[in-house]
Amino acid sequence: MPHWAMVIDLRKCIGCETCRHVCDHLNDGGWRQVMDMVMKDNQKGQNLSITMGCMHCAVPPCLDVCPTGATEHRIDGIVKIDYRRCIGCGSCILACPYKARKITFDHKVPHQKGFAPEHHGRKNQDRIGVCGKCDFCFSLLDEGMKKGLKPGKDFEATPLCVRYCIADAMYFGDLNDTDSEVSRLIRENKTSCLNEELGTEPSVFYILE
Ligand code: SF4
Repeated sequence: MPHWAMVIDLRKCIGCETCRHVCDHLNDGGWRQVMDMVMKDNQKGQNLSITMGCMHCAVPPCLDVCPTGATEHRIDGIVKIDYRRCIGCGSCILACPYKARKITFDHKVPHQKGFAPEHHGRKNQDRIGVCGKCDFCFSLLDEGMKKGLKPGKDFEATPLCVRYCIADAMYFGDLNDTDSEVSRLIRENKTSCLNEELGTEPSVFYILE
């Protein structure tokens, strides 16, 4: 069984926010944010743009607070929301230390048909008034794998933000596959996760230097 993960190379990120725009455009949710910050404890006092979505925590604080069981933890590490069960109470929004979740009140009509015609196979209407967040584009991964494609390697089976990062700063793949690009990057670089001290064990790793 794979464990899906993302590696983000902050040395390459140019802060253009293409990842955020692609996600907004196709998910209508504002599920990704790009924070500009200066790392004071970094020896170079580096300016960094940190792209963030759901961290797909191995120990997700959002999970147990959900009163309806709408938040699910898939066996492949993805934390997903069942929109039919979510009642929009917001408990998970308070529980998430990464501010990864939000309730969508607007319904924007999907645009630019053809850009991602499958539009994740979801109806946006299902997501009005309920909680949403990055889901690692699991429907694209699942569909791709049915066709024998490899998420992170094959474009069609890879999360949208990773596909369209113009700086080639985002990587996706299986942590349990020692030959995957994400495993190699983690092996060959010093990586950090955000708020590691909280013990959430994120599946998103950052390369800082
Ligand atoms: Fe849940 Fe937030 Fe962790 Fe995502 S980042 S799994 S929403 S606690």
